[in-house]
Amino acid sequence: MALTSLTISQTHQGLVKKKFSALELTKEYLNRIKKEDKKIHSFLTVSENLAFSQAREIDKKISKKENIDLLAGIPTVIKDNIMVEDIKCTAASKILENYIACYDATVIEKLKKAGTVILGKTNLDEFAMGSSCENSAFGATKNPSDLKRVTGGSSGGSAAAVAANLCGYALGSDTGGSIRLPASFCGVVGLKPTYGTVSRYGLIAFASSLDQIGPMTETIEDCKIVFDVIKGWDEMDSTSIKTQSLSRSVAKSPSDLKIGIPKEYFVKGMDPEVEKQIKKAIKKYEDEGAKIIEVSLPHTEYALPVYYIISNSEASANLARYDGIRYGKSKVKSQKSKVKSLLDVYLENRGQGFGDEVKRRIMLGTYALSAGYYDAYYLKAQKVRTLIKEDFENVFKKVDVLLTPVSPTTAFKIGEKIDNPLSMYLSDIFTISVNLAGLPALSLPCGKVGKLPVGLQIIGQPFEEKRILEIGKIIEEVKN
Ligand code: GLN
Repeated sequence: MALTSLTISQTHQGLVKKKFSALELTKEYLNRIKKEDKKIHSFLTVSENLAFSQAREIDKKISKKENIDLLAGIPTVIKDNIMVEDIKCTAASKILENYIACYDATVIEKLKKAGTVILGKTNLDEFAMGSSCENSAFGATKNPSDLKRVTGGSSGGSAAAVAANLCGYALGSDTGGSIRLPASFCGVVGLKPTYGTVSRYGLIAFASSLDQIGPMTETIEDCKIVFDVIKGWDEMDSTSIKTQSLSRSVAKSPSDLKIGIPKEYFVKGMDPEVEKQIKKAIKKYEDEGAKIIEVSLPHTEYALPVYYIISNSEASANLARYDGIRYGKSKVKSQKSKVKSLLDVYLENRGQGFGDEVKRRIMLGTYALSAGYYDAYYLKAQKVRTLIKEDFENVFKKVDVLLTPVSPTTAFKIGEKIDNPLSMYLSDIFTISVNLAGLPALSLPCGKVGKLPVGLQIIGQPFEEKRILEIGKIIEEVKN
């Protein structure tokens, strides 16, 4: 088997038994990236020098017979909205085109400590705003299963890199589905952890009450390995939670399980072929002895408008810092520039630096927060958010987990939805409630329609990542 097809534990075994060195492994991945990524465009930056120096460090440790962590020497890629010190961090925006990160995000610090090898930074929708990876200022990433189709977004580069074996695993971020949707479209595993479980220090903020970093991997076992390394309290993130219960008890056998199927997630307009694959997965759990119970989350229909009011409002505040002075294009020195005042600096930098979707959201968010409209939009949305959260609390009194599709369709064609923001936003209808409620959810491959992967979503109660990963294993399909 090619070195680039191994799981994390298999690679670890190979390194420890000296079947190959970390440097050889890194070179193998970098060669593959050179060959394959021309077609897919999952990378924005390849950090070859960093990767080589990290790999050499691990080889030294192995030659000295030192113990190494499971992630030591394992090549990874990082969504380009997470800071890696001294490496460019663009958030796929022109406004940060030349921005070099001046510190490591907490998750990166943890991965570096574990000895991982960072191959590069991956493409995304600009500032993680999008569902297809087409909103990147540097061009869309293409779905490895069909190059004419989108990867899903916003962590499309990370999902495609995992699917095409261009890395051992990846990190993504999920504000309204950005780990789970691309994982589903590309046929990989993606975990959106409970809000507050993984530090967001060093993540370029989009909507701070929703953003979470999580792993994107080939297998569930890999997902668990990475999650265990990146999770945990961090004094640098005030939303990070100090908890002992990060791994609550796991159901012993599927026959102990009560699985809820929310009826609002099987709606008209859903691709019947996708529905068939999801129903097949549900049947598998039933065959294993799990009790399948239909449940209702009655406020689901409000999730999309609530999400777009809250996320855009928070985004409009978070993106205010890109003012052309501390960050930005700073073209203002050019002779031809018409810049005469501070306002001109803002207008020129933000006008040229942000793409259309980002501008649209800043305008909507600013409007929703403005005096006179705040109560009608933002405050109202926060109240409905509470109702959505309570829906989940109520069903979790009756069931252990929920099973749903990740998306109503498989990967759509590049260009198909880009001119219609509303139809693009509808791709997120099954993923955003989870962020509004702060819950953990897993996306995992559960079949295909033609050559296109379908994703199953397992939603758990807060801090039950371990449980949803265990439950996912029951239908895991490892692809090679
Ligand atoms: N697609 C959603 C949006 O555009 C979610 C993005 C995300 O999770 N970062 O807002």
